[in-house]
Amino acid sequence: MRTLHTFHGGVHPAEHKQESTTLPIAQAPLPSQLIVPLQQHLGQRAKPLVHVGDKVLKGQLIGQADGAISCAVHAPTSGTVSAVDVAPVPHPSGLPDLCITIIPDGAEQWVECIPLDYETLSASELRQRLRDFGLAGLGGAVFPSHIKLNPGVQGTFPTLILNGAECEPWITCDDMLMRERAAEIVAGAKIMQHLLGASEVLIGIEDNKPQAIAAMRTACAETSFEVIAIPTLYPSGGTKQLTQILTGRETPSGGRSTDLGVQMFNVATAYSLARAVLHGEPLISRIVTVTGNVDAPRNYEVLLGTPVKELLALAGTPRTDTQGIIMGGPMMGFTLPAESVPVVKATNCLIAKSPALFPPPPPTLPCIRCTQCAQACPVDLQPQDLYWFARGREFGKAQEYNLFDCIECGCCDYVCPSHIPLVQYYRYAKSEIWAREREKQQADLARERHEFRLARIEREKKERADKLAAKTQGSKAPSANAEADPKKAAIQAAIERAKLKRAGVTPQNVENLPTETLKEIEEIEARRAQLKQAMEKQPDTPV
Ligand code: SF4
Ligand code: SF4
Repeated sequence: MRTLHTFHGGVHPAEHKQESTTLPIAQAPLPSQLIVPLQQHLGQRAKPLVHVGDKVLKGQLIGQADGAISCAVHAPTSGTVSAVDVAPVPHPSGLPDLCITIIPDGAEQWVECIPLDYETLSASELRQRLRDFGLAGLGGAVFPSHIKLNPGVQGTFPTLILNGAECEPWITCDDMLMRERAAEIVAGAKIMQHLLGASEVLIGIEDNKPQAIAAMRTACAETSFEVIAIPTLYPSGGTKQLTQILTGRETPSGGRSTDLGVQMFNVATAYSLARAVLHGEPLISRIVTVTGNVDAPRNYEVLLGTPVKELLALAGTPRTDTQGIIMGGPMMGFTLPAESVPVVKATNCLIAKSPALFPPPPPTLPCIRCTQCAQACPVDLQPQDLYWFARGREFGKAQEYNLFDCIECGCCDYVCPSHIPLVQYYRYAKSEIWAREREKQQADLARERHEFRLARIEREKKERADKLAAKTQGSKAPSANAEADPKKAAIQAAIERAKLKRAGVTPQNVENLPTETLKEIEEIEARRAQLKQAMEKQPDTPV
C-alpha cells in the first residue's frame, strides 16, 4: 500500500460532477462545417498544406508541424476545403487565428490508417511519428507529446504518472473516459513507459470517481501499474501537487517535476496515443463535457473543429438566461469570445453560465490581511503580498516573491473574504514582466544593429580613404598631388600665378595670347580648381 502525501493548502469547491456523468459518452454528429485552427498546441503554428477547393479525406494531414515544438493538424472528416483564413478561435486573448474550414461531404472516408509496431521502431522515429499524428497533452496545456516523451540527456524518466485526478469542478470527460475506455488508456501508458524507460507507472485518480478507479484497476490487472485513489482536494491534479501526493517529492521553486525524474500525462493523452500507435489514427477528436445551464449535460466525443454553438445545441435548446460559455473549469477556465469558435485539442469542458449558477461576484473590498489566501495557496506563496506588489507595479518584488511559481489555480480568489480578483492581478503582473522582457530584448537587438551599422560606415570610409591614397601615390600628376597635399599644391599654384603675372598675362589680354600659353593657363586653372576642392575637404590647410 503506497503512502500518500499532502500538499499545502487547497480548497473544496462544489463539485457539480454528477450532472454530466449520468449518461454514457455520446458521439456528436457531423457539424455543418469544421473550423480547424492551425495552432491548437503550445509552440509553433502548423503550416497549411491545402488550398480552398481541395478535397480532403478524414485523417488527412492538412497542417504540417513546423519546427521542433509544433504538432501536425488533420482533417477531422472528409469534405472540401472552403477557407484557409483567420477566424475566431477559443483563446483568452480573443484574437482570431489561421484556420482551415472544411465542409463535410458526409462520407466520413478515411485515409489509410497504418498502425505502428512501436517496439521495433527507434525511439526518435516513433517520436517523429507521434508529432505527425498531432498528439498534444489533452489535460489543458496541449504541450506536444513527442517532446515530453523524450527523456533527453537524463536517459530515462524513472516515474511515469498518469493524471486522472480531474480536480476542477464540473469537468467529467476524464472520468467518463476512464470508466468506458480504460483498456486503451493503459495501452497508451505502456507505449509511454516504453519511450521513457520508466520503472514505475502510477495512475492518480481523485476518490470521488469510484467507477473510474474500479475500471482502471481492472484494466491494469495484468500490469505492474498502480492505480491510486487520492483525496478529493482542488488542485490535486496540478503537476507539482500530484507528484507530491504520489511520491512525497516536492518540486523546488522555479523547477519542474521532470527535475525529479517524474513525467506526467493526462489519461486522455494516453488514450489518444494508443489510438494513434495501435490504430494509426491521428488526433481528430476528443471527449468534451457539455454542462452548466443546458437541458441535458453529458460528455460527447467531438470532432476537432466542431463549432461550439452546434455542440451546445446537442445538449438542449439554448436558454435565454445563458450569459457566456466557459471553456475549461470555473477555477482556471476562461469565457469564450464567441459561440462560433471551434472545439480544439484543449477543449475539455464547456460550461454554459447563468446568473443562478454563477452569480456575479460581490463588490471588491480592501484587503484586510487575513492571510486566508496564503493558507489556501497550494504552492505556499504569499498571495496577499503578490497582490500588493502587482497593484503597486513593483514587478521586481513580485518576482522575488516567486510570482512565476503561481499556477493560477484560483484558490486564493476562492477564499478571499474581500472578493479581490487576485489571479487577475498575477496575470497582469506576469504579462507586464514578459512585455518588459520582450522590450528589453528588442532594445538590445536595436542597439546591436546600430553599433554594427556605425562600424560598417567607419570601415567603408577607411576603405575609400585607403583606395584614394593608393591611387594618389600611383599618379604623377600635380593635380593628384594637390589632393594628397593641399599645402604643396597651394604653393605650386601661387608660383604659376606669379609666372603668368611676370609674363604679363591678365584677364584683359587673355584672348590675344598664343595657343601654348592659353593651354598652360587652362592647366593652371584646372590645378586651382583641384586645389579649391582639396581646401574644402581640409579647411584647416594654411594657404
Ligand atoms: S484573503 Fe483577501 S483579504 Fe485576506 S489577506 Fe488575502 S487578499 Fe487580503
Ligand atoms: S492562484 Fe497562485 S497565488 Fe493564488 S492560490 Fe493559486 S498558486 Fe497560490
